Amino acid sequence: MCVTQQIGRTEEELRALIDIMPQLVWIGRPDGYIEYHNQRWRDYTRMPFGSAQGNGWCQCIHPDDRQRVLEAWKNAVQMGHSYSIEQRLRDGLTGEYRWFLAKGAPYKNAQGEIVKWIGTLTDIDDKKRAGQELKAREELLRVLAETVPQFVWSTQEDGSLTYANQRYLDYLQVPLEELLGYGWRRFLHPDDYEATLAVRARSLGTGEPYEIEYRLREGRTGEYRWFLVRAAPVRNEAGQVIRWFGTSTDIEDRKHMEDALRQSQEQVNALLSSRIIGIFLAEEDQVVEANDTYLRMTGYTGEDLRAGNINWMQMTPPEYLAVTQQAVQELAVQQYGTPYEKEYICKDGSRLPVLVGVVALRRDPLYTIGFVLDNSARKELEQRKDDFISMAGHELKTPLAALKLQTQLLAKQLAKQGISHSISVLPRMEERANHLERLINELLDVSKMREGRLEYCWEPVDLDALLQSVVEIMQPMSTTHTIVVRGTAPGQLIGDKGRLEQVFTNLINNALKYSPDASMVEIEVSTRGKMVIVSVRDQGIGIPQEQREKVFERFYRASAPGQKAFPGLGMGLYIVAEIVKQHGGTITVESQLGKGSTFYVTLPMERAASLKRA
Ligand code: ADP
Repeated sequence: MCVTQQIGRTEEELRALIDIMPQLVWIGRPDGYIEYHNQRWRDYTRMPFGSAQGNGWCQCIHPDDRQRVLEAWKNAVQMGHSYSIEQRLRDGLTGEYRWFLAKGAPYKNAQGEIVKWIGTLTDIDDKKRAGQELKAREELLRVLAETVPQFVWSTQEDGSLTYANQRYLDYLQVPLEELLGYGWRRFLHPDDYEATLAVRARSLGTGEPYEIEYRLREGRTGEYRWFLVRAAPVRNEAGQVIRWFGTSTDIEDRKHMEDALRQSQEQVNALLSSRIIGIFLAEEDQVVEANDTYLRMTGYTGEDLRAGNINWMQMTPPEYLAVTQQAVQELAVQQYGTPYEKEYICKDGSRLPVLVGVVALRRDPLYTIGFVLDNSARKELEQRKDDFISMAGHELKTPLAALKLQTQLLAKQLAKQGISHSISVLPRMEERANHLERLINELLDVSKMREGRLEYCWEPVDLDALLQSVVEIMQPMSTTHTIVVRGTAPGQLIGDKGRLEQVFTNLINNALKYSPDASMVEIEVSTRGKMVIVSVRDQGIGIPQEQREKVFERFYRASAPGQKAFPGLGMGLYIVAEIVKQHGGTITVESQLGKGSTFYVTLPMERAASLKRA
């Protein structure tokens, strides 16, 4: 048997073998001419035997793949190396294309010459489609991961990082490669490092999702920001963890807010638990919440509080009702009430002087928070001061009276002896003594007023005559000013003549004193309804706006920057205001700095029935 016959036989056997193979098989010549396709191939493509030969087989390749496949095939033939390509092949029965992996290899003789090309086509359509679907799904996830405002990342089942979204990379300012595996760890805050790894390690061990907060370094600034990190495992059908997915959310701002909140909470707690200040929350009159200091001050207990037994209105003594009500009214128009002094009737009936400041938290019903300071130490000090003033007044009064008497006696004796040159000094001495006496009387008046002991002698008063006589006394005392009175009162009023004289003497005195460069003090009497208004106007230094109300307070003295000092003790206007008040009247002031002041005394012509006669 010759060699050619042998080869021919072998080839026939080969063809018989490949015809029964489940794969699609082809055989080509060394020059790339395809000369044989097996039965499976023909069954699939339905191409008649002859028409697939040469390059005929290309007809059943998807037009989009044809060029690529042909080139790859030609190239393999030219180079003589094996060939592998994915391509779509038409199912001759349905006309549909399925993906195949085409593989070809040269079959060489002993001299290394290519004798044949043998190739197979393996159906990979299902695998390919599954792969494409997976890819599409992964792409969808990736797009999703890039759009969310968080950092998104995934790791292998052992925790080594395989993916991080762009936002994450932008934050850290590094390429993905630097994060892969365990690279991301070096961006962790050193203080959070151990705790973070421990939590992760635990979860990787148990397969349970985890949540943790840690700081990551921002690439641009080098500063750390807080992140809330959540990770969950992805499992395969067998329930094994195959991956971890995670998100990191920037919570730096929330952290700051939490810190600020915690801090302010601590401050509030410190305030609440302070032993200095009593704090209560009240709904209308009822105290609904109070700190220990408040309870200790008032003698009530936590049980009283819970039972609703603490009512600040009932704790207010009658003489403080007016000032309390005024403070409550203030809350109707503004959030904060001006702190005011009052007393509490404690649970045991004792009185406690307090300073109260209230803030409205809500209206209708009125919900307030109140701050209460024990004022007894201050009140005691004030009392001691008052006692001292009263005592000092009395102590000074007696020797002064003796001094005045002796001066008068001395004047008489000197006159008798005809020593005229010494007598001239005595009126000046008397004048000084009188001034001193006025001051001491004012001190005593202030003391009595404080204690409500100043007595009034009510009688009909002719206001015009009263003003006239005051001016007559005052005018000679001033060489610089003219005191003018305009207008008349419509009739008499009921009052204490001596005290009313004191009112206008004080006002005129001040007008003269505080207008050293002026030449006139004007008094004007007018009526409005049943009220008579007496104004005392000067063209003096004026009173700064914010001090105008205060000048009526005890011992208050106004001052403006650069103003010269005037002698005085700050008692005059307090006494004036008290006397006017006792007469059922009011006193106000209008003033312009550097231009002058006008004090308005408004008195009722008919004494209010509510005012008791002393
Ligand atoms: P004193 O005059 O003794 O200081 P007063 O009680 O009479 O006390 O007055 C209180 C304060 O009011 C004074 O210290 C002064 O600053 C201011 N004051 C009173 N009257 C006038 C006025 N006519 N012009 C400017 N300031 C005045």
